Amino acid sequence: MRIEAFSAPTMVTWQLTRDCDLACLHCCTDSAPGKALPGELTRAQSLNLASQIVQAGVPYAMIVGGEPTLAAHFADVCRTLSDGGVLLKIETNGNDFNVDAVKGLGIRSVQISIDGASQAVYGRQRINGILDKAIAACHAVVAAGLPLEITFAPTRLNIFEAEAVIDLAAKLGAFRFNTGQLMRLGTAAKLWDRLEPSKAEYASFLQVLERKEREYAGKMELCYKPFSLEEEMAHRAFQPSGTLLVLPDGRVKVAAPLPFTCADLKSQTFLEAWELYKKAWAQPRVRAALKDLAEDPAASSRANQWVALYESEDMPVVV
Ligand code: SF4
Repeated sequence: MRIEAFSAPTMVTWQLTRDCDLACLHCCTDSAPGKALPGELTRAQSLNLASQIVQAGVPYAMIVGGEPTLAAHFADVCRTLSDGGVLLKIETNGNDFNVDAVKGLGIRSVQISIDGASQAVYGRQRINGILDKAIAACHAVVAAGLPLEITFAPTRLNIFEAEAVIDLAAKLGAFRFNTGQLMRLGTAAKLWDRLEPSKAEYASFLQVLERKEREYAGKMELCYKPFSLEEEMAHRAFQPSGTLLVLPDGRVKVAAPLPFTCADLKSQTFLEAWELYKKAWAQPRVRAALKDLAEDPAASSRANQWVALYESEDMPVVV
């Protein structure tokens, strides 16, 4: 099924805030302490959007950040969505996660980032991060009976601990381990020369993933395909995702590795934004940007310099 056939998104990825208690070197959203985006949606605007998502019949939402739990209206947004029948995935760094805030909600999973098996490695990449706190959050999630996912962002600083982190994820009771090639976005793009693993490191990382996939078959799923952002976008060029990506200030992004925003939920409704999103994929500027990305993966490093596609001459108007 192509997105043209859908009257609403199949999923919403909602960045509640850009603020974060950590300042990770690999962060794809430029998040860090005190870096809330100017003009982030207020509580009233967020609850209004949550109600629109419910009314549109969206089945599934990923609540992300920054650190989404830092948004003052995090619990209320989750409650509104869940009460309306939207299943939730919460992505958190787990360093200050209170599982009680999501107990009783329709939670599909809680995803916690574990980017090292030792504090020395974890803390080098996750500035301000305490591994034991993230592990305690994993235990709390599992003890609460909620499905746990672990994510691992490989860099030159931590890739050699990947196997130990996979084993740790299995020991913690995760049902899924998510990873892939480091994304050249945000802070990671700025620090690319320090972070990008070598070809040899990636080759041995892939060997580890394939071996661990066999070892944990039937116990824990290893998700790492498509492996790179370019592979993902090559597929998306023909089959755009049914996911609407909402930025903290209510703008809607066409795709994380592209710079374009296609709607603004402060002035447009959720379903108007969906129609603009669908049309955006046919826009010449978007097609050209996809071609650029395929030819030069470094183009994604400019993806957080947002450009309003709907203000351009070639953008269709919703009627
Ligand atoms: S990677 Fe996650 S935890 Fe780290 S700074 Fe970015 S949003 Fe915060």
